[in-house]
Amino acid sequence: MLDLKKQRFIVFFSWILVAPFGFYSAYTYFPSLEIEWANSAFLCVVLFITMFLPLRFRNVTMSLERWITFTVFFQYGLFAELVFTQIAMFILLFSRKTETPISHRFLVNSLLFTLVSLASGAIFHSAGGIIGTLNFMHICLFGLLYAVSYTVINSILLQAYLHFEFGTYSLREKFVAWDFISTIFLLPFSISLYFLYNHFGNKSLLLIGIPFLLVLLITRMYNQSNNLNDKLSSATVIGRELADRLGFDDVLKTFIVKLKDVVPFDQAYVLDYLEYEQLIILMGYEDDVVSKVVKNFSIASKKFEDDGLDANITKIFATKKEANVLKYFAFPQSVESVMTSPIKRNQKTEGFLVLASNRRNVFQALEMKIIDVLTGYLATSLVKARYYENTVKQSETCALTKVHNFRYLDEKLDEEMIRFHTGEIQSLSIIMIDIDHFKSINDMYGHQSGNDLLFALAKKLKIYVGSNITLARYGGEEFVILLPNYRKCETATFAEQIRKEVASSAFRIIPDLSEAREPVHVQMTVSIGVANVPEDAKDAKMLLRNADRALYIGGKQAGRNRVGVYRD
Ligand code: GH3
Ligand code: MG
Ligand code: MG
Repeated sequence: MLDLKKQRFIVFFSWILVAPFGFYSAYTYFPSLEIEWANSAFLCVVLFITMFLPLRFRNVTMSLERWITFTVFFQYGLFAELVFTQIAMFILLFSRKTETPISHRFLVNSLLFTLVSLASGAIFHSAGGIIGTLNFMHICLFGLLYAVSYTVINSILLQAYLHFEFGTYSLREKFVAWDFISTIFLLPFSISLYFLYNHFGNKSLLLIGIPFLLVLLITRMYNQSNNLNDKLSSATVIGRELADRLGFDDVLKTFIVKLKDVVPFDQAYVLDYLEYEQLIILMGYEDDVVSKVVKNFSIASKKFEDDGLDANITKIFATKKEANVLKYFAFPQSVESVMTSPIKRNQKTEGFLVLASNRRNVFQALEMKIIDVLTGYLATSLVKARYYENTVKQSETCALTKVHNFRYLDEKLDEEMIRFHTGEIQSLSIIMIDIDHFKSINDMYGHQSGNDLLFALAKKLKIYVGSNITLARYGGEEFVILLPNYRKCETATFAEQIRKEVASSAFRIIPDLSEAREPVHVQMTVSIGVANVPEDAKDAKMLLRNADRALYIGGKQAGRNRVGVYRD
């Protein structure tokens, strides 16, 4: 691909070569009839209105200017057609905004339109087509030839241009098909207008021009309500899909991915209020990737008084200038338009959905309504997902010690064994810990204090092993630690460190049984058993049993406050 400057220069140079020469040769070499300027002004008005009523079918926007430009060609010849086409092009340039500078778009469009007109005009004439004739069959036949040449050449040149500018043949088949169908569909209207125009002059516009525009208007309205229907049914599908998702992140990911089918955006962010003060990013979509970590978007650490963010209604910021009002957010340079929508629950704004596009004027009023419906679904699904995740977490946590419970340990062990069997991990070691003489501690300080000690020990162990290692309460005063990919000797060393750490710690409790309720510091020791897969066991059950044996023989029987490593 060429760099931008070179590309623009080539386009400019080609335009200089083609356009003036094209106009000149159309004027001098191609047959033309004298243009009645007063009459054609009316045609120009119809052209104007037609250009402002483009049709949109499934993301392809088409303007139907050809029905006038074809008539002009049949009536006055190529030069007049060129003039009308350039007028249509100007309207197109100003009515549809993109990020490319208007001067460049003018050159490209003008170049392409001129080439297409010249080539299809040449085909018409060299095949024997005559302009201004009142022979019905002649206009029908040569008109068809002209229309077909026009669309085919247009598609080829557009394809070639896209390849030149973007390096891809990205013209969509859908676009080519619609371009062809709409042109062939417009041809009978052009021919009718041509004959009526010949007979009745401007009055013909009353007979066919106004009815045509009315039909166009109705089709557009029908089209819009169809679009709305399509989007609403997509919204319903999204709602259902969200309802099926249970995990919090899963809901967010599904929402963003599915939203892409309904609203065109380049970046999307779901934001959440932290304590109703600061917004944080829950999930983002950039460069076709959904992730919690975003690169191109940031939120200021302090909220501004007047930050342009509306917590009540969905808002569209159609241009870069308008989006600049959103001082709270920093978008990448490429963003040209933004839509913000509050995510509300029970009338309270819980967060925001922020959509950004690299094109101007992308978000439509129609989409605002859909987004309102969808953020409603999202809010409900997120609450459900949070509730579900909390419930799962609770069911896997020991209420007393706040570490994982046996149920979790059991499942995790099975998972780790599967990982071992599939070769994802090479070994799995476990450490089983049992407090020494805990019964006596209970007897001395009371069971409530015993509970406090269990909680304190669990806390110490949790901090010691870190959050990436599974620690669970196995039974009464027994804990288990899972160590995937730990060799047996490493595990024994780690167990020894834990033993020493516990033995050298004093745990502060308020004795349950004493009257004084003065805090005391209790010292305790633990005995530990170590076993490993594949060295000592083949399955999870055996691994636990052998760690228990090691604990009993190497720890308790050997005198307590010891680490027992399993041996056959
Ligand atoms: P050792 O392990 O050194 O042989 O002696 P021990 O006294 O710790 O004996 P064992 O492990 O067999 O007994 C466990 C005791 O732990 C029994 C019970 O009094 C106490 N215990 C178990 N679960 C709890 C609990 O949830 N809270 C309290 N306070 N005590 C518990
Ligand atoms: Mg025990
Ligand atoms: Mg014990």
